[in-house]
Amino acid sequence: MNKFDVIVIGGGIIGLATSYYLLKSGKKVALIEKNEFGSGASCACDDAIFFQSKKPGINLELTIDSIELYKSLSDELGIDLELENKGGMVLIEKEDHLKVMEDFVKKQKKFGLKVDILDRRDVIKKQPHIRKDILASTYCKEDSQVNPLRVMRGFISKSKKMGLEIIKNNIIEIKEKKDGWKVLLEDKKTVESEFVVNATGAWASEIGKMIGIDIPIVPKRGQIAISEAIPSLGETNAWSAQYIVTKIAPELDRNQNEVYKRLGIGFALSQASTGNYIIGSTREYVGFNKKTTYEGIQLILKEAMALFPIFSKVNVIRTFAGLRPASEDGKPIVGEVEGKKGFYIAAGHEGDGIALAPITGKVVADLINGKRVRYNIEELNLKRFKY
Ligand SMILES: Cc1cc2nc3c(=O)[nH]c(=O)nc-3n(C[C@H](O)[C@H](O)[C@H](O)COP(=O)(O)OP(=O)(O)OC[C@H]3O[C@@H](n4cnc5c(N)ncnc54)[C@H](O)[C@@H]3O)c2cc1C
Repeated sequence: MNKFDVIVIGGGIIGLATSYYLLKSGKKVALIEKNEFGSGASCACDDAIFFQSKKPGINLELTIDSIELYKSLSDELGIDLELENKGGMVLIEKEDHLKVMEDFVKKQKKFGLKVDILDRRDVIKKQPHIRKDILASTYCKEDSQVNPLRVMRGFISKSKKMGLEIIKNNIIEIKEKKDGWKVLLEDKKTVESEFVVNATGAWASEIGKMIGIDIPIVPKRGQIAISEAIPSLGETNAWSAQYIVTKIAPELDRNQNEVYKRLGIGFALSQASTGNYIIGSTREYVGFNKKTTYEGIQLILKEAMALFPIFSKVNVIRTFAGLRPASEDGKPIVGEVEGKKGFYIAAGHEGDGIALAPITGKVVADLINGKRVRYNIEELNLKRFKY
């Protein structure tokens, strides 16, 4: 049988979530993956459902709803997804960053996010190992984390039970037909469907080219180091304000050291349930290169030791890199392609794909089923890039 309601291309967390919610809605789904599941970004990333990094708007709205879906997914999928709600702090070291963060926090609060600025004394209470001259931090109780590997495992095993057809193959050609789409595979087999979802992350533009459309998504490499398991260093996960400031006040980025800028260093620290610390990360434009570099890892660890001096005594046991799918404006591309009936994109989630996976899958399934969604989803459509 080679006819399906929907063909989902890409077995990262977005393609898997989309397949799951489509199956749940009663669709017959085939998922095409050319390598291993999660071999793109979804198995080489951090674990944050990070509210504080989002500008008020659709990404924050979607994150709020995504975590609600996560809350019921462990039961639905029958696997502990290690969803934890430790809260998060954005560590502020410079006066100009403090001003930017105060302004950002005000806007987020107005949007309904429960986030505050803490002074040095309160920062040290929550993070006893932080450098003692830290200026301030933000604090948001809602920041959470989930284990992406478990999420993917859960989606795969549940979806298989629900009838997901998994096709491990390369795509040679995608053809538009009168009543849908025909996908020609490397082994000469074809599969057909009324709908196709391009969920190939950093590779989305390659699939786009097959049907003659430009999808402005490029790979943005992120390098990560994993520490040995140690007792918890503090109450919450933590990020440096540099990471947020680079996003929201790029003019301040000009003062930054050239190497840090080229590597896009933005410190992020979270502790997995096993006790290992995930220490990230870089943000580099180096094409489809997934290698780690001495320079990148060394600078991430330097940041870790500068903020938490105790890291000089902790062993690193592993390093890896993943490719964030980065769209031109930092927002994901979600929705049907204008003029290509039945062809959808669900890609370009950059550093938010773990947080946004359930809601993206649900929204795409709803759109394909002709249901109304409560967001201004047009804001995420590919056509926003047509000037
Ligand atoms: C260092 C780092 C830290 C991160 N931290 C976080 C975080 O804390 N929180 C968060 O929310 N997000 C985080 N992210 C982002 C998150 O990992 C990504 O947004 C998410 O994994 C993207 O998922 P995806 O399914 O779109 O892409 P991918 O996981 O890359 O999956 C795409 C899949 O498509 C397949 N594919 C490509 N071309 C084809 C083809 N022609 N045919 C078939 N299959 C194809 C690939 O093999 C791949 O498996 C981080 C990313 C990195 C790199």
